[in-house]
Amino acid sequence: MQETIWETIELFCPVCNATFNQLVVLHKVPKGFKIDKYLAGMVENHDHKAYQAAKAQAKLVDAGALQPDNTR
Ligand SMILES: [Zn+2]
Repeated sequence: MQETIWETIELFCPVCNATFNQLVVLHKVPKGFKIDKYLAGMVENHDHKAYQAAKAQAKLVDAGALQPDNTR
């Protein structure tokens, strides 16, 4: 039985100007595989729009958390 090795790799996207984590199954990577190219392709092909929307949403949540509690 082959062990599945998941590795979280932090990638930087210049389009989103942000880093994001990508899970990669390393045991499926063949010998001599150009992991850098593969990861660069992932950065290029990831959903920039969805990522930026999620980031904006997270910022809204953060800002909300910083607001003073008016219920007290
Ligand atoms: Zn992006």
